Amino acid sequence: MIKNKEHTILIVEDDEVCFLYLSTLIGEHLVTGSTILYAKDGLEAVEICNRNDNVNLVFMDLKMPNMNGFEATKKIREFNPIVPIVAETGFSMNTDIEKALQAGCNEVITKPINKNTMFKVLSQYLSGQKDQEHLVKCEIR
Ligand SMILES: [Mg+2]
Repeated sequence: MIKNKEHTILIVEDDEVCFLYLSTLIGEHLVTGSTILYAKDGLEAVEICNRNDNVNLVFMDLKMPNMNGFEATKKIREFNPIVPIVAETGFSMNTDIEKALQAGCNEVITKPINKNTMFKVLSQYLSGQKDQEHLVKCEIR
């Protein structure tokens, strides 16, 4: 369990099977009352983040129709520099990792995501430490 606190997590993923897999993994670690939101592309992700300032963590697929994860992250960063955004990619090419970090993602993890990686990511970002780091980075720029 990640602390004794309710969290809201947004999963951005065009593949429904991937979404179900991720939400199951995440669900195992969250306390009852936590919320998992779903966006099927970047456009929906931006809209959901705009409407909910209580989102604690975003899992962002990079390859999606309509608006990809790079663009969506850039747009979200325009109004929310704090929320941790963890990109997931099936192709761990260095250029994509670099591009995702430049767009404003905190980290890039490679699919398939296993239980241990998920637990590590959730404990790291829901504890609040990384939020602060990212905020500092944004201010320096
Ligand atoms: Mg995809």
